[in-house]
Amino acid sequence: MELINCIQCHEIFVHSGTAEQLCAKCAQQESVLLREVKHYLRRKPKATILEIQEDLNIPSNIVIRWKKENRI
Ligand SMILES: [Zn+2]
Repeated sequence: MELINCIQCHEIFVHSGTAEQLCAKCAQQESVLLREVKHYLRRKPKATILEIQEDLNIPSNIVIRWKKENRI
């Protein structure tokens, strides 16, 4: 076990050893947002990161990270 800073809110938490670098609170929020984005992309498969950011009000850095992690 190690303590790391959450990449979203920068709070220190115990890292569970997965690739996830988010605290429980941010991971929870993120899973809700991720579901919204997936839903949105089903309706609009060619949406750009900018469109996702503007239509769903999600910071582009999060969207870019999801793309990199192949989650969307
Ligand atoms: Zn956090």
